[in-house]
Amino acid sequence: MGIKVCKFGGTSLADASQIKKVKTIVDADPDRKFVVPSAPGKRHADDQKVTDLLYLCHEHAKQGLAFDEVFKLIHQRYEQIIEDLGIDLDLSDELDRVKVGIAKYADRGADYAASRGEFLNGQIVAKLLGYRFIDAAEVIFFGENGRLDNQRTYEAFSQKISGDERAVVPGFYGTDHEGFVKTFSRGGSDVTGAIVSRGVGADVYENWTDVSGLLMADPRVVDHPKAIDMITYRELRELSYMGASVLHDEAVFPVREAGIPVNIRNTNKPEAAGTMIVATAKASSDMGSITGIAGRKDFTVIAVEKAMMNAEIGFGRRVLGVLERHGVSFEHMPSGIDTMSVVIADTELDGKLNDVLKEIEEDCDPDSVEAIDGMALIATVGRGMSHTPGMASKLFGALAEAGVNIRMIDQGSSELNIIVGVQASDFKTAVRAIYSRTVGV
Ligand code: ASP
Repeated sequence: MGIKVCKFGGTSLADASQIKKVKTIVDADPDRKFVVPSAPGKRHADDQKVTDLLYLCHEHAKQGLAFDEVFKLIHQRYEQIIEDLGIDLDLSDELDRVKVGIAKYADRGADYAASRGEFLNGQIVAKLLGYRFIDAAEVIFFGENGRLDNQRTYEAFSQKISGDERAVVPGFYGTDHEGFVKTFSRGGSDVTGAIVSRGVGADVYENWTDVSGLLMADPRVVDHPKAIDMITYRELRELSYMGASVLHDEAVFPVREAGIPVNIRNTNKPEAAGTMIVATAKASSDMGSITGIAGRKDFTVIAVEKAMMNAEIGFGRRVLGVLERHGVSFEHMPSGIDTMSVVIADTELDGKLNDVLKEIEEDCDPDSVEAIDGMALIATVGRGMSHTPGMASKLFGALAEAGVNIRMIDQGSSELNIIVGVQASDFKTAVRAIYSRTVGV
């Protein structure tokens, strides 16, 4: 018998009917021994997430204002869930304690308040499933630097949890070095799920959400893109960096180190296999195929040109030195013999562009330096892709046919990724053209 850890996101637990689906899923497989719930999310587009309401309570409390009205919404939400599930659980004392705590700890930041959404929901899920409730504060620890204290955390897991029991560990929080509640950043229940997976030595980390895994392209850009069956951690990193989001960034590390695959599944469509995220791709037949396409807008390219740049020692350092002095980080730096382009997110350059250009003129004495704004970057990611003959030509052919002017190409040193820069107005046309040529329709 194996061990599966199942993390359920906010929409999977938004109300009693969703939570019943969770029970059906967990009951369907005896390996599903550990459950990591989020707080109740949105029931419909205009709804409020419980976590957002809790942050709001904290905002009020911090300013010494009453927050009874907002807290009432939270109270009612949980009472409704308990009533609709028909379970024998009374959380009213617990809810009162939470309310007092939010006011009492308001000066210490929002973490205590925010964490209570998962803390309360975990007790409901545990009761419904008949699983033990383990407070995440007893097993997940942060060090003084604010990062996970691996040693303390995994020691606590081995002391407090045995692999053959069944338990619910609420997501999103743990205990800081002073013994106080601390949360991960938003969406952090994904990270808890990964830590629990590693802590109990799971065979699979199932991450249940409201989509059937990762898609090969953004469905707002490409009509009905295909789902990705399998993706490596590195590919996932490249795609999520470029805008595809499915898993919290930090969730990858604990499972990756322990070699535990992550399976992204859909609570509303449990029959779909979802996407498997694995350490290394299995079949060599996969090599050279496209895994996904993702992109981001709002970049500026600073293009610097100088004859004999290649022979001038320190030129690149001086250009980058200007950026460093202004506290600007850059994304990519494709270069030619006499040219060098630095691609920078617009948010980094906010109000600094003119000074940066002026200082590059002064410090580097280039033949020309210009800023090209309104750029979008598109990454086409796939195993061994940039080493597969024909891949680049397909990609560039597709863009040429669609009449898209390529402003920049960066194949980098990674074998996984070809990044092109296009005018933001060409973004959708470009993604659709690449998708239909490289993936097919
Ligand atoms: N409830 C938290 C949030 O909304 C954490 C999570 O759901 O992962 O960010």
